[in-house]
Parts: sequence; structure tokens; C-alpha cells
Amino acid sequence: MTVRTRPLVVANWKMNGSQAANAAWLKAFAPRRAAFACDVVVCAPAVYVAALAAAATNVEIGAQDVSAHASGAYTGEVSAAMLKDVGCEWVVVGHSERRQFHREVDADVAAKTKAAIAAGLRPIVCVGESLAERDAGQALRVVSEQLQAVLDVVGAAGLAGGALAYEPVWAIGTGRTATPEQAQEIHAALRSQVARSDMAEAAQLRVLYGGSVKPSNAAELFEQIDIDGALVGGASLVAEDFAAICAAAG
Ligand code: PEP
Repeated sequence: MTVRTRPLVVANWKMNGSQAANAAWLKAFAPRRAAFACDVVVCAPAVYVAALAAAATNVEIGAQDVSAHASGAYTGEVSAAMLKDVGCEWVVVGHSERRQFHREVDADVAAKTKAAIAAGLRPIVCVGESLAERDAGQALRVVSEQLQAVLDVVGAAGLAGGALAYEPVWAIGTGRTATPEQAQEIHAALRSQVARSDMAEAAQLRVLYGGSVKPSNAAELFEQIDIDGALVGGASLVAEDFAAICAAAG
């Protein structure tokens, strides 16, 4: 039974952009938006979130990280309530670059997801295995543990309104994409895992694929039954390419 509503395509601009470049992107993307029905989110560097949320008319705006803490002596951090306050709707949590370069572990990801939900943000929870883990036949075990750490804290209902993103680390920014079959296998397993807690929520949960998605490979990924959209890094920086990926999603 598939009851998922619309595909969701999310741009992750990572640490790219400027006021001028962001405005140009919105201008180039806006006229293309009418051509597809999928939901579209742009996750920008925190410093640009407020201006983008004020300027964007046909995409929702997200952040790329959030503090696990509500407020206080956490120099340099940005709280979920602050993001919400400036019009942010979504936030990526547990991106592999946060896990790799900022040593975020599953407990951090779960705490950040909880903080995001408490402030009314919609979390996009990222999971994914390294190449060594895949080669060792551990991909399913790794992503399952990453997901379970979040489910143990926020439950399946906590993911309602948010999304799960499967991003094999070996496919991010490498030009190497998981095959549609490899992605489908993991997506189906993740959905089954959520279903063990809440069948209805699992049926509705949008599970995105991320890892070198581009206009040339998006359609074959979206054909898979359990791939409900994409989290797009590099190709999202060019509005025309990102629009082509959105068009493939529907
Ligand atoms: C990402 O940053 O989440 C990502 C999937 O990057 P890329 O599309 O460049 O692989």
C-alpha cells in the first residue's frame, strides 16, 4: 500500500552561496517551479536562511544543522527555535559531513532531531554507510543502527512530517551513485524498520535518496517504489539542474 503524497526534493547547498548568488538562483528557479508538483526545499547555510525564507515564494527553506540545545552558553550554535523564528521550516540532521568533520554520533543526531521537532521544524534525518562498511556487507546493519538511535528518542511519530534520507557516504560528492536497486534495497529496509513501530507512519514517510543525484540519473532512481525523492548536493547549486531533477520527481 503506497499512501505517500508528493515526492520531496531537497537542495543541500552545503557551504556555498552569497546574497547575490542566492537571489540569482531563486530568480532562475521560480519560473520553472510550475512545471512540477513535488515539494521543494532549499537547505541553505544558516546565515542566509532568514533572507531566503523572506524572499522565496514557491520553495520552503531549511537549515543544514541545528543545535541540540534550546538556548544558553553554546557559542556559535543556532537553536531550532531561532531557525523557526526566521521562517525556516526544515532542517537536515546527521548529514555525513557533520558526522565525519564534526564527530557527530548517533546520540547527537537523535538529540538534534528531538530539538528540531520540539521547535516545530521538520527534520530530514540522514543515514548512510561508508564504502568500507558496504564492502564488508554491513550497509544494512549500519543504517539500521543509525535510524534506530533516532527512533528510540523521537519514535516513528517524531518523523511524521519530516523525512529520512539514505545517503551512502561513498556516493556523496563523488560522482558515484548507488544503483537504483542498491538504493531501493536500503529504502525498503528502512521503511520496514519504521513500520515495526508504526505501520501507518511508515507508509507515509518520505525516504529520500542522496548521493550524486543529477538530471541524468534522477528518473531511474525515482522509479523505485520506496524512493520518494532526493537530497541533492552538488547538482542543486545550478538552478536549472535542480529543476530538472524536480521535474523527474513529478
Ligand atoms: C549531499 O550533500 O547531501 C549530497 C547528496 O551531495 P551530492 O549530491 O553532491 O552527492
